[in-house]
Amino acid sequence: MVAATEHRPLILLVEDEADLVESMRFALEAEGFDVVTASTGREGLDKARTHRPSLVLLDLMLPESSGLDVCRYLRAESDVPIIMLTARDGEADKVAGLELGADDYVTKPFSMRELVARIRAQLRRSFRSGTFAEVSEVLRGGRITLDVDAHEVAVDGNPVSLRPKEFDLLESLMRRKGKLVTRETLIDEVWGPGYFGDTKTLDVHIKRLRDKLEPDPANPTHIVTVRGLGYKFVDG
Ligand code: CA
Repeated sequence: MVAATEHRPLILLVEDEADLVESMRFALEAEGFDVVTASTGREGLDKARTHRPSLVLLDLMLPESSGLDVCRYLRAESDVPIIMLTARDGEADKVAGLELGADDYVTKPFSMRELVARIRAQLRRSFRSGTFAEVSEVLRGGRITLDVDAHEVAVDGNPVSLRPKEFDLLESLMRRKGKLVTRETLIDEVWGPGYFGDTKTLDVHIKRLRDKLEPDPANPTHIVTVRGLGYKFVDG
């Protein structure tokens, strides 16, 4: 977790689904962010003005006013990074939002790992202006290094290209180095608590990770199976 002395970026979450707001608030606070919330566009604009957040998470499907309008107003008065939360079928909204000045978007349902990675990437970009010290978090285990903020993985210093879910899975395991991480925890963290797909997906991604990271994928020394329960990352 983040040290108490460290700057905790403030995130404004504009979202009207109460359950989602609470689960996101909980997860973001655990990741070292402070969170203020708004459930309408009007409230979102007011809070952006009064709280001066480091970043805005903006749902596009809001009651009363469209998230696109909120995006336009926000951008007219501030350079704050904006990440849109969009519906799967809202392709036109994504394009419109980006044209209105949003910086990035995630499609619902998204995993918190993915969202946090996007947030950190945006904050890094805006912190580069020099207001805040850049904090880089790097996880290490044996031959493998994972740079959380840069979203980069290397084996013996050589960059390895991972797909987003593979990266999230490795991060989830490396954060608990030496400890069993159950299948349920991994699926929740990487695919989201709303994932009801085939759990074999997890094994497929573990296999891909091993193929990319292990010297002998058939006899893994970093990502080891805990039979019947889950997986564990070890230094090897
Ligand atoms: Ca909504």
